Amino acid sequence: MFEYAPAPESREIVDIKPSYGLFIGGEWVDSQGEDHHKTINPASEEVLAEVAWATEADVDRAVQAARTAFTTWSALPGSERAKYIFRIARIIQERARELAVLETLDNGKPIRESRDVDLPLVAAHFFYYAGWADKLGYAGFGSDPRPLGVAGQVIPWNFPLLMLAWKIAPALACGNTVVLKPAETTPLTALAFAEICRQANLPPGVVNIVTGAGETGAALVNHPGVDKVAFTGSTEVGRMIARSVAGTRKKLTLELGGKAANIVFEDAALDQAVEGIVNGIFFNQGHVCCAGSRLLVQESVADEVLDALKRRLSTLRLGDPMDKNTDIGAINSAAQLAKIRELSEAGVTEGAERWSPPCPIPDRGFWFPPTVFTGVAQSHRIAREEIFGPVLSVLTFRTPAEAVEKANNTPYGLSAGIWTEKGSRILWMADRLRAGVVWANTFNRFDPTSPFGGFKESGYGREGGRHGLEAYLAV
Ligand code: NDP
Repeated sequence: MFEYAPAPESREIVDIKPSYGLFIGGEWVDSQGEDHHKTINPASEEVLAEVAWATEADVDRAVQAARTAFTTWSALPGSERAKYIFRIARIIQERARELAVLETLDNGKPIRESRDVDLPLVAAHFFYYAGWADKLGYAGFGSDPRPLGVAGQVIPWNFPLLMLAWKIAPALACGNTVVLKPAETTPLTALAFAEICRQANLPPGVVNIVTGAGETGAALVNHPGVDKVAFTGSTEVGRMIARSVAGTRKKLTLELGGKAANIVFEDAALDQAVEGIVNGIFFNQGHVCCAGSRLLVQESVADEVLDALKRRLSTLRLGDPMDKNTDIGAINSAAQLAKIRELSEAGVTEGAERWSPPCPIPDRGFWFPPTVFTGVAQSHRIAREEIFGPVLSVLTFRTPAEAVEKANNTPYGLSAGIWTEKGSRILWMADRLRAGVVWANTFNRFDPTSPFGGFKESGYGREGGRHGLEAYLAV
């Protein structure tokens, strides 16, 4: 691999405050509790800022503020709500570089990804749902669909601002107000978004941001004043939330884990398939719920695909996420790194063969090299459990029926990929795969117009597209 000169993005364009309070009723307020949390840069372990840890009383204040704002916000004509959401979308575009830097510092993902994937999609979601705000009567949910009320939204750390956009944009377009809790390790872009709401003159209380840990999320989800709960995160926490919401009148959508099969047939364009495999599992360090973490490759081309894959992985650059040449950034937290290590060690113990390219690891921060396991059996933990890291498990198959059987042999059902030159085979496979999203000759492609969501333990409800409106309307 030839060397590139360093190409660092400037950190100077973001202004991170030493400490942040909570954003409630359009104001920055102090938490009523004493606790604070330090958010760090996972690539260097440098403390970025201190963030408030919202208590139950703080969550209550936020829900009250959202309830008060709901009366006027829901009564606005859709065309008026749209103006605010369009304004937010435009401000996000104007401040995209700054937000991308902030996301990379707090999350550890490569700047190239936050700049070229996350931020354009965030703006696109706000533009898309702004467009729906005055057309809800034509969306197929009745002539005058009504909002639900206050939405309590809890999001994870893998795409902090993008998950915020997936949740807040449709909620506001439908006339709901929002209390959102970002993940403990990645609160900074949600707090920057609070500033953007002020810049857009969004009426106070329409969006409230409460930072904190799991208890803050639980307080929000369980608050009796919340009408709708939207959660993205682990299946384990999703299950707890489903239990606590059961029997209440709250509407619930869950977007949980995945263990997607990326299926490569012998007639596929193999060079393209290899790029799709790399994008499928090494994009965002594999911290992607729909990551193609199980490669199913047809036996006749398995050696050829693996050789090409290993060659390609040897060219990936792991290191400083702020460098524009970096392909693989930092793992988001020490806890996540420990989980990836534990599952990878289980893979070796259970008999699979582990391979990583030569890859210098920085001294500080949390890092894991791109890793490929071959000789994987369906019963291995690395073939069944979500690793949520840059680790690929390779299995083989002989016939399309066997590929379907193996792909569906998982408690999850979020996504799948098919690589073949035959359109009829794509349709045959897509009919049989129990996955909410099936990509054909591509992977990890997202668009605000397209619904996204899971089967089985990957959750229920859809986000994105016209379908995404349904979760925020009383239909
Ligand atoms: P969690 O499900 O624990 O976290 C997701 C969000 O829920 C965070 O904001 C978290 O807060 C919050 N939360 C935690 N406990 C509760 C609770 N009892 N009630 C309400 N909200 C709660 O995921 P983790 O971040 O701990 O990641 C663990 C694993 O989950 C990963 O290894 C990965 O496998 C999977 N995951 C899947 C994601 C997906 O997109 N499908 C996204 C993230 C994780 P806090 O951050 O403070 O804990």
